[in-house]
Amino acid sequence: MKLCRFNDNRLGVVLDDQIADVSSVLDTLPVYRWPLPIYDVVIANLDRLRPQMEKLAASASRVPLRAATLLSPVANPNKIIGAPVNYQKHIDEAKIDKQINVGNEIKTIDYYGLFLKANSSLIGPSQGIEIAQPERRHDHEAELGVVIGKECRNVSRASALNYVAGYSIALDMTTRGSEDRSFRKSLDTYSVLGPWLVTSDEIADPSVLDLWLTVNKQPRQRTNTRHLIYDVPRLIEYASMFYTLLPGDIIMTGTPEGVGPVVPGDIIDVGIESIGEMQVRVVART
Ligand code: MN
Repeated sequence: MKLCRFNDNRLGVVLDDQIADVSSVLDTLPVYRWPLPIYDVVIANLDRLRPQMEKLAASASRVPLRAATLLSPVANPNKIIGAPVNYQKHIDEAKIDKQINVGNEIKTIDYYGLFLKANSSLIGPSQGIEIAQPERRHDHEAELGVVIGKECRNVSRASALNYVAGYSIALDMTTRGSEDRSFRKSLDTYSVLGPWLVTSDEIADPSVLDLWLTVNKQPRQRTNTRHLIYDVPRLIEYASMFYTLLPGDIIMTGTPEGVGPVVPGDIIDVGIESIGEMQVRVVART
């Protein structure tokens, strides 16, 4: 199932070039009182909501996909986890490009561990990436996004994929510079997730997916997730040694070679096999 959040926080099931509006299932969610859950309540209830959504989708009102404003399919993640330098060819380019490494030695994911991006940076593809400091370099990083479905900690590699709700395309936008990653990658709009969530039953193996990105139709990034250094099961195992993972947590799995700058006016197209593709505009912050 392809699940999206669109327009004014409507919940949709994507069927070819249309969205079936299944928002009425949200009425069956538990009524929450303060303190509110710290996880995404739609993702947490997905197993129960899914049969209702499938049934409803057949008769629900439809919206053309082209006309919809696509928001992040996860509304309320507890955390957005990033994986630094997780493709060898990106390590290689970062080592030789001073605009990427800004004078720092580039080490490995074993050395750095993971990092967190501020939840306030999260947007969907229709909302646009806003460049706030035009004098600096801001790069696209195309990544496979993993959405956690069930609370877990100390997960084994062998069972890790059982805790995945689904997959999305992610952009881990990055300001190059000397500051900590969590600072440079957490500007408003610098975490893009979309265009929808593909439930994990549709992607048996997340380690065989082609991934590509263009800017203004010019090819910039192309890889396959088989080249990940820490693959999806390892990232879940590793992250869950440190953090309790909660429904709706997003893991951005790392970017391949070909990162490069974007400026206001650019149009990013990014796609992942078995998920789809999305287009994101780059604009100046007003
Ligand atoms: Mn990244």
